[in-house]
Amino acid sequence: MNKYQLNKTASDTLVIHCADSRFQNAFRLFISKELQIENYIPLIIGGGVGPFALHKFNSINSKILIDQLELFIGKTGIKQVCLFNHQDCKWYKDIMNCKSDKIIIKQQSDLKNLSNFIKSNFKDVDVKSFWTILENEEIIFKEL
Ligand SMILES: [Zn+2]
Repeated sequence: MNKYQLNKTASDTLVIHCADSRFQNAFRLFISKELQIENYIPLIIGGGVGPFALHKFNSINSKILIDQLELFIGKTGIKQVCLFNHQDCKWYKDIMNCKSDKIIIKQQSDLKNLSNFIKSNFKDVDVKSFWTILENEEIIFKEL
């Protein structure tokens, strides 16, 4: 039976992004190589930031997500949160039925709203928002 090392170093960064398997490698590489964050808490969920935005509609699922956010930020010494939404997100298309000409506006506004929510509830936490662009089967990250 293989054994794996426990990471005993506390993380100061929480990362939220979509679970879409096409993007996982790019997310990991961007976070570790470009942002130089190796030790982070990943909160990975279909739709990335999108499901958090449903809290305005008293959705039970988003209540659970906000509880998770408050738990991690409030109890683990998180100093920084990195938020990602990505182009061609099936959650926005298929679950939220966003019209294709409105999806990017909705996704970027969800990033801004969650960023503002975190900043207003946790004064000492820095929030970075990234828009993930899919271009000719390559992925580019742009900080908003
Ligand atoms: Zn997605």
